[in-house]
Amino acid sequence: MVEVRSVHKSFGSLEVLRGIDLDVRTGEVTVVLGPSGSGKSTLLRTINHLEKVDRGSISVDGTLIGYRRSGDKLYELREREVLKQRTGIGFVFQNFNLFPHLTVLENVTEAPIAALGRPREEAVAAAEKLLARVGLADKAGAYPRQLSGGQQQRVAIARALALEPKLLLFDEPTSALDPELVGEVLDVIKDLALQGTTMIVVTHEIGFAREVADTVVFMDGGLIVEQGPPAEVLDHPRHERTRALLAKVL
Ligand code: ADP
Ligand code: MG
Repeated sequence: MVEVRSVHKSFGSLEVLRGIDLDVRTGEVTVVLGPSGSGKSTLLRTINHLEKVDRGSISVDGTLIGYRRSGDKLYELREREVLKQRTGIGFVFQNFNLFPHLTVLENVTEAPIAALGRPREEAVAAAEKLLARVGLADKAGAYPRQLSGGQQQRVAIARALALEPKLLLFDEPTSALDPELVGEVLDVIKDLALQGTTMIVVTHEIGFAREVADTVVFMDGGLIVEQGPPAEVLDHPRHERTRALLAKVL
């Protein structure tokens, strides 16, 4: 589903991604761990084409999108394709990013109606199903400020699912939540995993990684320093750096 090859990305003189290779197979869950500033969010943003890569390539579902060499105009020529791809990739942010002036139901129906041109009735019926799936059928008419953080994040997940994405990206979906609300959001993500949703999840929740991930990836300093099945990476890390990182988060 996702092929990242030799991706480099700098902000000014700061090289944030220093040669990333990553494969995500359809139906698999990849959990990305690593210290703050290691490039995790930037990697997700390049996969969703919110950031352009400087070098290397990214393809999603067989379509090559990010590709740049000096003098290569391919990326710009594909802007239309980039927009099309982005609607096929759901993104869930740390801070929910719900529209505060829209109800829960309107938050979920907005993109299908505006971006995909779905008839309102159809979008509403689909949204009601999605809200039931994340346990919020009774909150359709509420506004985001009336919900807990955990409920808001579950709305954000329903909103991402409304575009029927082939890939879901989560950037620290529980980091802004009070500890007692983390579980309800992780449970929804686990449920999606069980149903075969292809996902990349950036998180510090090691227990979640152990239970749900097919592959765990450790990033440090803009590089993937270790990747493999959770039992291997979490219990038998090969690199000293990974051991040090795990010791900090456990
Ligand atoms: P992580 O998600 O692992 O904490 P990020 O990908 O957010 O790491 O950031 C990696 C580094 O890139 C950090 O040093 C951060 O300050 C820097 N960075 C991220 N986005 C930008 C940007 N838009 N402009 C300049 N620097 C950025
Ligand atoms: Mg981040």
